[in-house]
Amino acid sequence: MRLVPAEPPPASQDLRREVRDFLAGEDFTPRCDGWLTGFDPAFSRKLGERGWLGMTVPSRFGGHGRSLLERFAVIEELLAAGAPVAAHWIADRQMAPALVAHGSPAQRRRFLPAIARGECFFAIGMSEPDSGSDLASVRTKARRVRDGWSLTGTKVWSSGAHRAHVILVLARTAPPGPDRRAGLSQFLVTLPDPAVTIRPILGLAGEHHFNEVTFDEAFVPDGMLLGEPGAGWRQVTAELAHERSGPERMLSTFPLVQALAAQTAVADAGTGTAAAGTAARRALGGLLSRLWTLRQASLAVAGALERGDDAGAQAALVKDLGTRFEREVADVVRAHVPAEPDPDSPDPLARTLAEAVVQAPGFTLRGGTTEILRGIVARELGVR
Ligand SMILES: Cc1cc2nc3c(=O)[nH]c(=O)nc-3n(C[C@H](O)[C@H](O)[C@H](O)COP(=O)(O)OP(=O)(O)OC[C@H]3O[C@@H](n4cnc5c(N)ncnc54)[C@H](O)[C@@H]3O)c2cc1C
Repeated sequence: MRLVPAEPPPASQDLRREVRDFLAGEDFTPRCDGWLTGFDPAFSRKLGERGWLGMTVPSRFGGHGRSLLERFAVIEELLAAGAPVAAHWIADRQMAPALVAHGSPAQRRRFLPAIARGECFFAIGMSEPDSGSDLASVRTKARRVRDGWSLTGTKVWSSGAHRAHVILVLARTAPPGPDRRAGLSQFLVTLPDPAVTIRPILGLAGEHHFNEVTFDEAFVPDGMLLGEPGAGWRQVTAELAHERSGPERMLSTFPLVQALAAQTAVADAGTGTAAAGTAARRALGGLLSRLWTLRQASLAVAGALERGDDAGAQAALVKDLGTRFEREVADVVRAHVPAEPDPDSPDPLARTLAEAVVQAPGFTLRGGTTEILRGIVARELGVR
């Protein structure tokens, strides 16, 4: 397995400065995991107006025709600032590339310009009550009916489905044969729909971003099948390379790292004990050096995807290492700073620590668990 170094093009420095200037003028509270929990449609629309959504979508499809590495610079700035980007995140990150790759002309016309404007939000309907890691075992079925398909089954953990305009559903369109991965297809289901019931699944702190989504003979017209019938597995796998390798897989707790940096600066100014300040500074340095290495790996995958290379295993490696890092940030902070997590605290350190502690268990699960990712890497390395 190779990770070929890549860097955002020099012009992206200007882009980066523009994003920073924009963020400085915006009024939001930086939060950990803002890409999953910071839902703000007005903010998404502002990004759309500036050309920072649908960046890699060709201009003939309503996007901005920029490179994945330029997009990397923009999203890195947004994530580092803890900006509220959850509303459009799934649409911009993986649905836009999926529609560019597999969408029909009508689907591209309908969804891509709206995604680029920050006006069309997507949810992912892959996991089911008995199918998470083993996606090929999904039981949601799509039955052929006149002019379309009838969808029946239940999806779980669908982030943001209660506020999405569309959910992309993986369903079985042919019975499983010797190759369990065959016979799966993807459907674009617009929401709300009277045959689709969306129930909240509350998170650890009682917050609502997950959902159970039930389809009861929901009609999906022919035109809303994404790509080829039976090609669902191949399409989903390509989507996962985009889903797994981005800077959001290491920056979910960056606002906490910044709060730690601010705290050590206070210690440097003489208000803390010298020994505590030194230990905290060392810990911060350790976190930042790891983060820099992870960033280079994530950039390398963006470069590979830009070239059209298959980067599934590299993306799995980045996600494994990156999510372990972002999860450990909370432990490192707690070991060096006497802060108690408090979601309502005016102190950014106590508040972002509370956000990190609550969200951290999901980091290494969502988008593929650590064990599954390591299996992919092991297979690529020929040791499995
Ligand atoms: C914050 C968050 C957001 C999510 N958002 C979405 C979403 O929007 N849409 C969506 O469809 N899903 C979503 N998910 C679901 C996520 O994709 C699944 O939780 C994940 O794929 C694991 O599936 P599971 O929970 O069924 O666990 P299981 O697959 O049952 O796994 C349970 C445990 O067994 C281990 N395991 C399973 N199989 C193997 C194996 N072959 N070898 C070794 N170990 C194995 C796993 O690593 C895990 O530790 C989200 C999850 C989280 C936490």
